[in-house]
Amino acid sequence: MKTDMTRLTDIFGVNVFNDAVMRQRLPRNIYRDFFGIRQGSGNLTSALADVLANAMKDWAIEKGATHYCHWFQPMTGLTAEKHDSFISPTPDGRTILEFSGKELVKGEPDASSFPSGGLRATFEARGYTAWDCTSPVFIKGRTLCIPCAFCSYTGEALDKKTPLLRSMDALSRQSVRVLQVLGQTGVKQVITTLGAEQEYFLIDRDYFQQRLDLVLAGRTLFGAPAPRGQEMEDHYFGTLHERIAAYMHDVNMELWKLGVSAKTQHNEVAPSQYELAPIFTTANVATDHNQLTMETLQKIALRHNMVCLLHEKPFAGVNGSGKHNNWSMVTDTGVNLLEPGSTPHENMVFLVFVCAVVRAVDKYAKFIRAAVANPGNDHRLGANEAPPAIVSVYLGEQLTDIFAQLANGSAKSSKRSSDLKLGSSTLPPLPKDTTDRNRTSPFAFTGNKFEFRMVGSSQSTAGPNFVLNTVVADTLMDIADQLEKAKDVKAEVQKILRKIVTEHGRVVFNGDNYSHAWVAEAEKRGLPNIHSTVESIESIMEKENVEVMDRQGVLTQHELHARTEILLENYSKSINIEANAMVAIAKRQILPVCIEYCGRLASSAAVVSESGVQCKAIRKSLEEVAALVDRLSGGIASLEAAIAKTKKIAKVELHARAFRDDVIPAMRQVRAAADALECLVDADLWPLPSYAEMLLVK
Ligand code: ADP
Ligand code: MG
Repeated sequence: MKTDMTRLTDIFGVNVFNDAVMRQRLPRNIYRDFFGIRQGSGNLTSALADVLANAMKDWAIEKGATHYCHWFQPMTGLTAEKHDSFISPTPDGRTILEFSGKELVKGEPDASSFPSGGLRATFEARGYTAWDCTSPVFIKGRTLCIPCAFCSYTGEALDKKTPLLRSMDALSRQSVRVLQVLGQTGVKQVITTLGAEQEYFLIDRDYFQQRLDLVLAGRTLFGAPAPRGQEMEDHYFGTLHERIAAYMHDVNMELWKLGVSAKTQHNEVAPSQYELAPIFTTANVATDHNQLTMETLQKIALRHNMVCLLHEKPFAGVNGSGKHNNWSMVTDTGVNLLEPGSTPHENMVFLVFVCAVVRAVDKYAKFIRAAVANPGNDHRLGANEAPPAIVSVYLGEQLTDIFAQLANGSAKSSKRSSDLKLGSSTLPPLPKDTTDRNRTSPFAFTGNKFEFRMVGSSQSTAGPNFVLNTVVADTLMDIADQLEKAKDVKAEVQKILRKIVTEHGRVVFNGDNYSHAWVAEAEKRGLPNIHSTVESIESIMEKENVEVMDRQGVLTQHELHARTEILLENYSKSINIEANAMVAIAKRQILPVCIEYCGRLASSAAVVSESGVQCKAIRKSLEEVAALVDRLSGGIASLEAAIAKTKKIAKVELHARAFRDDVIPAMRQVRAAADALECLVDADLWPLPSYAEMLLVK
């Protein structure tokens, strides 16, 4: 055991060109200059870049690397990498290993084959990757990976990272202004922090390969519910199965080497569902790390003869997967701005920042909702076991009480909580939190951070966070504008807080978000409830969203528009793949089997009746199956017609709407018939592994 633990501290970050390595390998002045640049002061000169590149190359080669790549995050939501080797031939036929500052700082991938939403045409292909020096360089396999932003020839963002970095700058700028007026003059930078809890499913690889729907669409398009689902509530936090524990260990080791601080692991609510949570870090690095986490979860699963499913809803009828986005803001002097302290009513900085978040979330609720819109999440948001599509904020008892006081003037006290007594002399008294948790809230204050729970499990965290950062930055800007002009800052703060609480208190909801009563109540309060991805994406180009992105320098109208096109196209393409996969499976796998089974029943009926025995059950089964086969076949025809109709629609919005309004309902019909047949047809004939096999057999 001891050797294991020693190894553990030794291996953490071994594949990362981190601060410790840099301190060791770089001349002191170079390290100092580079440190400053990362903090936003000074420029990266080509001489400095050359020294850095050379040190990286030497370090990487010692570790067995042969290649380098610019590692970036195009609008696919995944990562992209093109590897180049370090070799550089010499005139005398040998080779030397080289990596220049120029190669470190800038790359030129062909931008035309990535989604650009019209920002690039295929004939104008040039795009650039630019080194993001705030996220450390690392080695994956035999390749030195350089985290990069990705933009077009004209400098427009073509990726997820660029707006995230811009939004972090915006939030920092406005926060510093507010803090200056509030007397925190030592703060030069405010950093957004993120801890992304990742949920996922694991299933056996053999089952996966027998299911074209999982292979092509990442979720099951067919499948009757298993006789046992999650109703026993015995999977959540259950003992880890040996095979799963071995898998998690390998995942952790791989992540630790990459400097990803994988911390928490446990069984999730649905059978075969799990979670991994890292320790939080800056939002940019956390986003990179989450990408590495998703990739590693999938890679290691194959080694264990399993497949990791990151889809938001791989199985109907059991919980879907999300990504809990724990978010806060911390000053460069180390203060978490969402830390209430023991007397939050007196903590002006805390109250201003919490109120800013509440205002931003209420004001831009539709935009925040749109930031998590994807076809997978449509199965989660608004479905009964996940956060509903209404964006509301949970504040908990203590803060809600303070909000009520603020509405009536000023806050004079903070509710406190006592120790919990467990009633046994051998159990310790537990200090009770001031606030309970609320698992149903989509945006919950959890002590010293907000937990945004609507994010889908497969999504990049960049999108939700750049929207969040931007809208909060904008509210902080309004506050700073007001405070900078004020004669009496304290009185002005009171005025601002009271106004926010009165005008935006409607977004605060501490009750059960899954209840029907809340849907009605939210409507009364005028809170938006947007069920579908298409509707949600269409709202992105509303004037106030365009303006806030532009005002904070995060995305131009042109860039934002391109993103909505990409999102809508992605929606249509995803549903199109699902629909085509469904037709293929229904026609070539399910229908033939059902027809064969009908034949079997018919001959059995004939043989039995010839024998002179009456058996009503055979006839009944035959009739039932035959009727469903007709329904299935009719359903397939309607689905094919609906797919064909979409092909005639050129306009992106109308195309997406046709998938939502015509194709998805047709898919539902096909599935209903097929799932009913699964419950009747001989299990040995059924062509697809069942839910029970996939979810419950280890
Ligand atoms: P939960 O009980 O909500 O599932 P976990 O411990 O699984 O809690 O996850 C909480 C996550 O929140 C972790 O990733 C943790 O690092 C992160 N976190 C804690 N404090 C902050 C903070 N100030 N900013 C961002 N994330 C934070
Ligand atoms: Mg958790």
